[in-house]
Amino acid sequence: MSRPNSQDRNLRERADKVIPGGMFGHQSTRLLPDDYPQFFSRAKGARLWDADGNELLDFMCAYGPNLMGYADDAIDNAYVTRMRQGDTMTGPTGLIVDLAEQMTALVTHADWAIFCKNGGDATQIALMIARAHTGRNTVILARGAYHGAAPWCATRPVGVTPGEKANQVFCDYNDIASLEAAAAQAGDDLAAIFAAPMKHDTFTDQALPDPAYARRARDLCDAAGALLVVDDVRAGLRIARDCSWSTVGVQPDLSSWGKCFANGHPISALLGSEVARRAAGRIFTTGSFWYQAAPMAAALETLRRVRETDYLEHIEGLGERLRRGLAERAAAAGLGLRQTGPVTMPLFLFEDDPDLRQGFFWSSEMLRRGVYVHPWHNMFLCAAMTTGDIDQALDAAEGSFKALRGQLGSLGPVEKLSFLTA
Ligand SMILES: *Cc1c(COP(=O)(O)O)cnc(C)c1O
Repeated sequence: MSRPNSQDRNLRERADKVIPGGMFGHQSTRLLPDDYPQFFSRAKGARLWDADGNELLDFMCAYGPNLMGYADDAIDNAYVTRMRQGDTMTGPTGLIVDLAEQMTALVTHADWAIFCKNGGDATQIALMIARAHTGRNTVILARGAYHGAAPWCATRPVGVTPGEKANQVFCDYNDIASLEAAAAQAGDDLAAIFAAPMKHDTFTDQALPDPAYARRARDLCDAAGALLVVDDVRAGLRIARDCSWSTVGVQPDLSSWGKCFANGHPISALLGSEVARRAAGRIFTTGSFWYQAAPMAAALETLRRVRETDYLEHIEGLGERLRRGLAERAAAAGLGLRQTGPVTMPLFLFEDDPDLRQGFFWSSEMLRRGVYVHPWHNMFLCAAMTTGDIDQALDAAEGSFKALRGQLGSLGPVEKLSFLTA
């Protein structure tokens, strides 16, 4: 961690000179406690080693991509074997057809697939197809929902023109009246409703989808001839072996996938139903690396495990054990801990902690005890975790809650998060 003369400190000093802001994007530790490592050297199973060799039980799972465990032998062997036979070539391999067959067989609504690299590619293609299909422009988005970092969905206005954000109407997640008001505002220009499968925004409690809200989104799209898009890039395969909204009985026309379906290898997908096939064939979308064969081999092995193992029930059981154990230990320490979202994608926020001073302190204490948790972003469980790992996390949590209890009156404000309470 960031001790003087540590590898992490040395790398940060060098990075400050050659990488804007020292690090960019979601993996920058700029908004994490100061002792969080920025650099890592390796990972295996549920564990990470930072650049200084400290071992950490990792509840971030690479911000989602790690589903079956880091450096999984079978998945990585599939990747490496294929890579050595040719990876990015003048055309795709047959694996692209195998993978499209597998994904459309797994995901109920899907009849076709387009493969790309990042989740943001898939959400952008969804937007283009909805506009091509309807000949209209307006999309409804939930306020605060993340769909990628391209200008149309960027979460910060810097470097983005108003034109790139045009034709967007916002509603509040799970609020049917605001969804209906947004649809009324879109009027006869509605191309799509973009739905997050659950509310998994940063700095705020998560929420599962209200089935009535999901059904209303479907009905409004049907009434308008618009397309319903579920952005399953983050939640996909951690809630269901299908599109996440299958759990509330609603099928979208398009769903975007990424992060974990090749267990960390670079591939994402847009899946679509029959109604959108023609428009999908009319847009032009591509990328130099989108036909790469090795990530497809890794995806096929990951999906085999999805179909043939109890990975989902396993992480659900672990998630319940973690949630129950944390609730007991927080209560015993006299602390109010809110645990929201599905147990496989937990978020922890403390009561009466608007600038996260309690969350920061507790997370640092967890890190000192060898457990990497995030103070304001949802976390992820992976199938390589064991009940022993959960119990290790619970032991760390017990000590960390006690330490927090002891310091509660003397915690200072978290300067780097002052925007939360400004
Ligand atoms: C991460 C994410 C994206 C963007 O995926 P990238 O691979 O980072 O481009 C889109 N939607 C959701 C819900 C995400 O969590």
